[in-house]
Amino acid sequence: GAHVPRAEGATPAMAQWFAIKAVHPDALLFFRMGDFFEMFFGDAEAASAAIDIALTYRGEHRGAPIPMCGVPAHAHESYLARLIRRGFRVAICEQMETPEEAKARRAPTIRREVVRIVTPGTVTEESLLEAGRPAWLLALADDGARIGAAWLDVSTGAFLTEALPRAGLAALLARIEPAEIIVPEALTDDAALAPFRALVAVAVPAADPVARVADAFEVANLDGFGTFAAPEIAAAALALDYVRATQAGVLPRLSPPAPQGGRGLLQMDAATRRSLEILRGERSARDSLLGAVDRTVTAAGARELATRLAAPLAEAAPIITRQDCVAFLHQAGELRVALRTALKGAPDMARALGRLSLDRFAPRDLAAIRDGFDRAGRMAEALVNAVGMPPLPPLLRAAATSLAEPGPQPELARALAETLPARLEDGGLIAPGYDGEFDALRRLRDDARGAIAAMQMDLARAWGIASLKIKHHQQFGYLAEAPLVAGEALLRNAPSGEHAPIHRQTMASAMRFTCTALADLDRKLSEAGERAKQRERAIAQHLRRLCLDAGALIAAAADAMAECDVHAAAAEIAVAGGWCRPELTQRTEFAVTAARHPVVEAALARARGPAFVPNDGDLSAGRRLCLLTGPNMAGKSTYLRQNALLVVLAQAGFFVPAASATLGIVDRIFSRVGASDDLAGGRSTFMVEMAETAAILNQATDRSLVVLDEVGRGTATWDGLAIAWSVLEALHDRIRCRAIFATHFHELTALAGKLPELTLATMQVREWRGSVVFLHSVGPGAAEKSWGLHVARLAGVPRGVVLRAEAVLRALEQRARGLDPLSDELPLFARLASPQSQGGPQPQGAEPPALVALRALDPDTMSPREAQEALYRLKSLA
Ligand code: ADP
Repeated sequence: GAHVPRAEGATPAMAQWFAIKAVHPDALLFFRMGDFFEMFFGDAEAASAAIDIALTYRGEHRGAPIPMCGVPAHAHESYLARLIRRGFRVAICEQMETPEEAKARRAPTIRREVVRIVTPGTVTEESLLEAGRPAWLLALADDGARIGAAWLDVSTGAFLTEALPRAGLAALLARIEPAEIIVPEALTDDAALAPFRALVAVAVPAADPVARVADAFEVANLDGFGTFAAPEIAAAALALDYVRATQAGVLPRLSPPAPQGGRGLLQMDAATRRSLEILRGERSARDSLLGAVDRTVTAAGARELATRLAAPLAEAAPIITRQDCVAFLHQAGELRVALRTALKGAPDMARALGRLSLDRFAPRDLAAIRDGFDRAGRMAEALVNAVGMPPLPPLLRAAATSLAEPGPQPELARALAETLPARLEDGGLIAPGYDGEFDALRRLRDDARGAIAAMQMDLARAWGIASLKIKHHQQFGYLAEAPLVAGEALLRNAPSGEHAPIHRQTMASAMRFTCTALADLDRKLSEAGERAKQRERAIAQHLRRLCLDAGALIAAAADAMAECDVHAAAAEIAVAGGWCRPELTQRTEFAVTAARHPVVEAALARARGPAFVPNDGDLSAGRRLCLLTGPNMAGKSTYLRQNALLVVLAQAGFFVPAASATLGIVDRIFSRVGASDDLAGGRSTFMVEMAETAAILNQATDRSLVVLDEVGRGTATWDGLAIAWSVLEALHDRIRCRAIFATHFHELTALAGKLPELTLATMQVREWRGSVVFLHSVGPGAAEKSWGLHVARLAGVPRGVVLRAEAVLRALEQRARGLDPLSDELPLFARLASPQSQGGPQPQGAEPPALVALRALDPDTMSPREAQEALYRLKSLA
């Protein structure tokens, strides 16, 4: 935390600051002082450094100036947003009384309290949230055997839980992408948590977690919510405690926790997600799968789409239920257009409801509920009236039911004014005719305004000053202002009675007066104004309650809108892009025709470059493994990813960019394509590559899909080749999964004769007028060896160097001729190729020294550092 000096000798306000800061040492304290939130000492230094606000000094503490910086209260949200994004937590400390109230109770300073702690996982403001992404706060618990996870979105009320083995934590984190994580102290060392900055370590309270969760939802027990493992409930309780602690004891509206266990999901580890760029692209969000396929028109729809792409399913029935909706809306073009028209510009009801539940709402949040139901009603009508169509599929039928409920819409429509103020304090929220009492107060207030005009005329006459003006002053209320000379004359010759002038101010050219009549009127007017304001606040609270009482209904309507948006968007892109409905089967099939990579295809279209070249893929029984060769830039990684992405899209319930697709449901995808450096994590590229390869070999099943690029590239040629060789054999013989394996090692193509289910494919390349042309189409067979030299020439490597390289290549090839991997003369491959010989006697023949050294290594006992040193040693021997 920031540096905090000792408190002795502080002024009363600073003493209060010290006391509050002591309770919130790990948050920046936004300390309300009038129109500003001020930060002091280390907080001020940290904040001013992080977001470039001016650091000043105010007064002294123990002989040293106090560092301070401040942000205007009315604009504090934008500063908050920047601080939160930089990983700070901010405690908002408000003034709880006026200076007059403090004076009246003879307090040394105004009472101040922390009303809220703003953290990355508990924000609700639109400006602090990403519209199209859920904002998950994740809590973890550990009972020794398993991890419990509970994640909730304060902004929408979604609340989910899951129990998992500890080894699954990294994959869960990659799937959820939490904005903030709550961890018991005992778990904080877990390596999976290392990349997360917004991590809060908490002590686990002794109180019974089941009771804590049940209390929060005001139920006797949790049986009605589903079946939970103990650590799931422990995590849920931690999450609730944390939310309550940050919201000054208040819980937002939350859906009951929904256990996710047993929901069959397509498993993808963190490296696979990164490699496939599902939600985030290497370069930009648009370069992700989500960015390329997102045709949703609402933020809630975009959030739902992101959630589905991050967690595709692994069971046929729920996938087919979703497909039915896409197929229906694919067919029903008019309905699709009607739904999308109603959705476009629809407000974010779920998040508006979240802000209402925390009593942190603006007039537009009430309007959001009103307008959201307008849209919902139009959608329900469109769904019900979809004439000439087969009956609605079940998901859309259920959506239509939720959308048809009017909820609090009629009352909101009557209550809210036509044009709404930005903030509740501004007044003007309520429409005339909604509330008799408010109307009367408002009339009084408005009449009083007319009365001021009348008073001005009366006083002008009584005081004999035609140019007299009544004006409102912040400090004195209404005062009558006269020119200096007329004012002096009035004082010399003052009338008596209720119009007797009482002098208040003299300025350079004018004097200001009041009188009993004006003061009475002033009081009446400000009272009416105050009472009207109070009444308006009460009505706003009534409307808020109305919405909260209908919370479940509103949430259901919001979910139904998101559901329709996702399916209509999926149908839209399927129609526009000529996508097909994949046939999902229980067998281990994989056959796609004319398939495309949605992200690369979109990028090429944007660049108005050459069209994307569609490719087939067939990994069906009998040809489960595909060995793909081709020079750099020929399109290998695009092809690998494309096949994996089709599975992600298909199992998330969407259509796929292909002419046809038959896919046996996949349980896990492993994708290792593209750079996977983990240099920040302190591991060498090769070490990471091997760790990831190990993960595949240990976890893949015969239902998995594996796409691998260049296994073994991070090391010397021979061990790289040896490793690639044995990995391919393991995938083929032992794991028996569907896999595409791209490689530079042409020697591997020799395996095609040995492994019956291995097929050879190559990216087709042509030479044209002395240069290389990539056709980007996948054909049978293997690439020729020397394309690398062509590419070198194409890239402008000087002619002499290329010629020399050609000579060297010829020489190397001659030397290698004796090293046919399949000939028994080469002991290395003879041994690796036959598993039976493992542990057998050392093959004869002189082994290269590097190989001897390699055999001596025991990777299981080495630290990453030792492994890297060993690698350097091996390289020096190679
Ligand atoms: P490799 O992995 O073989 O080095 P990439 O898959 O990275 O090659 O592809 C290189 C570039 O070629 C891509 O950025 C893309 O622009 C283009 N490309 C790849 N596949 C295709 C395709 N099927 N149709 C059109 N262009 C493609």
